Amino acid sequence: MNIHEYQAKEILRKYGISTPKGEVAFNADEAVQNAKKLGGSVWVVKAQIHAGGRGLGGGVKLAKSLDEVKSLTNQMIGSRLVTHQTTSEGKEVKKVYIEEGVNIKQEFYISIALNRTLEMPMIIASSSGGTDIEEIAKHTPDKIAKICIDPTIGFQKFHGKEAAFKLGLSVETMNDFVEFVSNLYKTYINNDADMVEINPLILTEENKFLALDAKINFDDNALVRHKDIESLRDFDEENEAETEAKRSNLSYVKLNGNVGCMVNGAGLAMATMDIIKYEGGEPANFLDVGGGANPQTVAKGFEIILKDKNVKAIFINIFGGIVRCDRVANGILEAAKITQVNVPIVVRLDGTNADEAKEILQKSGIKNIISVSNLSEGAKKAVNAAGGNQ
Ligand code: ADP
Ligand code: MG
Repeated sequence: MNIHEYQAKEILRKYGISTPKGEVAFNADEAVQNAKKLGGSVWVVKAQIHAGGRGLGGGVKLAKSLDEVKSLTNQMIGSRLVTHQTTSEGKEVKKVYIEEGVNIKQEFYISIALNRTLEMPMIIASSSGGTDIEEIAKHTPDKIAKICIDPTIGFQKFHGKEAAFKLGLSVETMNDFVEFVSNLYKTYINNDADMVEINPLILTEENKFLALDAKINFDDNALVRHKDIESLRDFDEENEAETEAKRSNLSYVKLNGNVGCMVNGAGLAMATMDIIKYEGGEPANFLDVGGGANPQTVAKGFEIILKDKNVKAIFINIFGGIVRCDRVANGILEAAKITQVNVPIVVRLDGTNADEAKEILQKSGIKNIISVSNLSEGAKKAVNAAGGNQ
């Protein structure tokens, strides 16, 4: 789960990390009030969306007067912000963060993320902060330091010192920096985060470290023990179909292709997406309907898949191990009655009672159901039905 910058900064402050002062606003009047409250003469108006790269996309702007705070807020709220992390349609800005403008001496990149290969949290740091870290990783990887922390030992000062050394920090700033990384690690561990990213972390003219931007990504599976964090969820920022799938206990991830997939079991769902790609198509989603595959779950699956207007065909790939294929076939027919499906549905049912299932589908007389005998035939037909190779 992701949260907004203003929410992430509130969490960071609780862990002793300094940030510029700021407050969220939902309209221009609130924005001006916030700026007055903050005082000073330079403010930054920051669009709050769940995507980075806002600065380059025009979502982070400097205001040198209250009038400017007002006009920038009016420009941003209600507009769609396109960044390299959003789709080309962008994301609608519904709130802005009004923050005091600070003087930047130096910008750094720092994050703590899970290194899945080594199974350890890892500090990632670079003296090229503020910019797109993926680009730096691609072109000048030696500018990025990676320091793993064995979770059984936890963060130790030497981890922080190693990072400081690699960033070329001066002796005077060393202790403050180590304390900052220690607090960042606590934020990461105590909240079951997948990633805590500060880009940029800045050094001010007064040699103080400030988190100028903040991104925290939480492990969804650990949210049960963080009700306070779960309450920060912003459904406006999440994909509607993904949210609905979660409520129905279906595992759905929207992708960008046009072949909708409905599969039982995550492994088979991954294999299904692979074979669609192998046949030259693009999957529109990942969807694991679980072991049940009854009419209600299949109907819900159709509904969720069809929310995506790119979907031109649906590939149902169910292996009947515990679940019997004939039951699934009847389920599909019933589900197709509950949810109007106007695109071709390619169905591959294999396993227990597969022959009976095929017969049921063939006899149904429903024209847009194409029954196939194996995975490869299914993928080919689904890709073709969706309009062929993209
Ligand atoms: P994003 O990563 O989405 O582009 P950031 O919060 O990192 O958004 O802001 C982009 C850039 O804007 C920063 O790298 C920094 O140079 C500048 N900036 C952001 N907040 C402030 C601030 N409070 N004062 C001065 N400059 C800022
Ligand atoms: Mg940033």
